[in-house]
Amino acid sequence: MARYTDSVCRQCRREGIKLFLKGDRCYSAKCAITKRHTPPGQHGQSRAKKPSEYGLQLREKQKCRRAYGVLESQFRKYYDMAANMRGVTGDNMLSLLERRLDNVAFRLGFGNSRAMARQLVTHGHILVDGKKVDIPSYLVKPGQVISVRSKSRDMQHLKELREQGSKNTIPKWLELDAENLSGKVMALPQRDDIDLTLEEHLIVEFYSR
Ligand code: SF4
Repeated sequence: MARYTDSVCRQCRREGIKLFLKGDRCYSAKCAITKRHTPPGQHGQSRAKKPSEYGLQLREKQKCRRAYGVLESQFRKYYDMAANMRGVTGDNMLSLLERRLDNVAFRLGFGNSRAMARQLVTHGHILVDGKKVDIPSYLVKPGQVISVRSKSRDMQHLKELREQGSKNTIPKWLELDAENLSGKVMALPQRDDIDLTLEEHLIVEFYSR
């Protein structure tokens, strides 16, 4: 599968916000956005000009895509799925992205970043209702239980999670049992459960041009 191999902090600097792609570093003074709040590249600073309507839509789409670590073709599929569902397309799209197994593992604190959570999934450390699922894009459903397989529970950050509980706020559509390294999907995620600062209507406008 194609992968983004450049510095991930460049993505935050390009979008001008913290996308929290690097785990603990994102909360420290070492965060590139904290140190240097300019777009990347030699001419980053001089590029600052009023963006066009298209530019705003594009940036909002890229911001969302990068936050969830999804490639363009896959992101487009989420939009198409959302557009064919009942309700508000932007809300539907965010709900679908939020239900990805790698995101759920991240939200429950099994990984410090979505990239780390994705690696846990692809390496077979994550179970859904007791069965290994190694597909990061797998969409969880209400009632399912997501857990870490017993052989993988000795990883340092998982030991900390078991002993100290989660450092993050667990969204209300998930319920974490930190001691057993498992979490239950209580409901489908709603827009107000998603803490991303995003104007999703711009993404919908981008794809419906
Ligand atoms: Fe983004 Fe985290 Fe890098 Fe800060 S440390 S720029 S939030 S990836």
